[in-house]
Amino acid sequence: MAKLSFLENVDQMFDAAVSALGLSDDIASQIRGCNSVIQLRFPVQLNGKLEVFTGWRAVHSDHQLPVKGGIRYAPVVCQDEVEALAALMSYKCAVVDIPFGGAKGGLAIDPSKYSTEDLEKITRKFARELIKKAYLSPAENVPAPDMGTNEKTMAWIYDEYQNLRPDDINAMGCVTGKPKTLGGISFRTEATGKGVFFGIEYFLSKDELVREVKLTTGIEEKRIVVQGFGNVGYYSAFFLAEAGAKIVGIAEKDGFVYNDDGIDIKQAKIEFDERSSIRNVSNVKYQEDSRLGLEYACDILIPAALEGQITAENAPRIKAKLIAEAANGPITQEADKILLERGRGILPDIYLNAGGVTVSYFEWIKNLSHIRFGRMDKKQEEMRGIKIIEAFERVNKIKLPKDLKDQLQLSTDETDVIKSGLADTMRNALDNIIEAKEKYKTTDLRTAAYALAIEKIANYYTLVGH
Ligand code: NAD
Repeated sequence: MAKLSFLENVDQMFDAAVSALGLSDDIASQIRGCNSVIQLRFPVQLNGKLEVFTGWRAVHSDHQLPVKGGIRYAPVVCQDEVEALAALMSYKCAVVDIPFGGAKGGLAIDPSKYSTEDLEKITRKFARELIKKAYLSPAENVPAPDMGTNEKTMAWIYDEYQNLRPDDINAMGCVTGKPKTLGGISFRTEATGKGVFFGIEYFLSKDELVREVKLTTGIEEKRIVVQGFGNVGYYSAFFLAEAGAKIVGIAEKDGFVYNDDGIDIKQAKIEFDERSSIRNVSNVKYQEDSRLGLEYACDILIPAALEGQITAENAPRIKAKLIAEAANGPITQEADKILLERGRGILPDIYLNAGGVTVSYFEWIKNLSHIRFGRMDKKQEEMRGIKIIEAFERVNKIKLPKDLKDQLQLSTDETDVIKSGLADTMRNALDNIIEAKEKYKTTDLRTAAYALAIEKIANYYTLVGH
């Protein structure tokens, strides 16, 4: 059988959920495909030579605006991949109840081969092209970072938009994942990894789910392998280790490192970043074949690098009881079937990595409201705490201990608000997926998550009569 493309894999997962839902063909086909895609070819003058770049922006479902989705810089980016990722964004936003449609962008480039100055030039040109073609604006189409891009990339895009549209009072909301000084939000960098943590933590608190995959409840001492030690992989591993899990392996482009006693994640990241090489990490054993990392004995495997990493070829050898999809599309549809037949649990990408878009949503709201969270009510909240303490002490004629007083007086800052909003989002979404699993009698969480998402989008189309 011919290998399915990333988009075909996503579409097959979509089709499985559509049949569980019993949705009519007309609405299903409206939701399934991308509504529009643009391919851009543009030249940039670099070191006295003209270089031509190719990029894409795909809008999957624009039932709600703006559409939201990261921009990826990688040499293998292509239209199929961008469309698949845009579709995942629509479903993801629906699963976690974010009022956005789905989009994705990509530029075929190896960012490691360019200087920061060159990347800035290329990004600014790409942004101008997107703006000219109406594929970038705070009201309609809002990118964020993804693989190969970061807050610096977002800062350049924002600056370019602001230069071209100085009359747009909401210009700051044209992109999320910006540096804080340019309207970014606390905790955006950590958000996807923290969302992965909350998702796994909540899954591991659910007796029935945990028993189904032959795990025990609780994070402590769980043996975890992570593939990809970039933004999402690192923060997922960091928060899980902080909660008592043992990160026993890290697979990167240039090899797999492992230590059954657990890897010091903070130290490993410092060493990895020094040379962008996993070989640089100390107190671990090293294996050159990175893909063997996926098959290493552990409780939870977290693919946090690329799509299509677990296929029909290696799925029979995966030992992890739970595969937590931090990356987008790391398991092919065929592999998904094999893993489920083998009793493995899968926390699907459209749920598990939604922390990024959730906090992006908070950032966009902050940009549109032109005020940081807590600015108006922080003092008032503190005063309320003090008044409650005073009243309690007066009525009961006692003095409360200082630590209790401090807790009651504590006001929340932006990071606290973001974290609690994120935790709440991830918990509600998993509860809703479990409900959909029961309602539509699906055997797995992925089909349930797709069904939940598709049902919400279909309801939207039905109500507005598109
Ligand atoms: P990143 O560029 O920060 O990190 C990716 C890491 O994977 C890099 O360290 C890279 O060296 C490594 N890698 C690449 N190829 C590999 C291979 N074959 N084997 C092992 N490691 C390999 O990217 P990121 O932002 O962490 O994104 C990772 C995944 O998470 C992507 O699928 C992305 O779409 C998804 N995602 C990211 C976000 C976000 O907020 N950044 C949000 C949702 C989903």
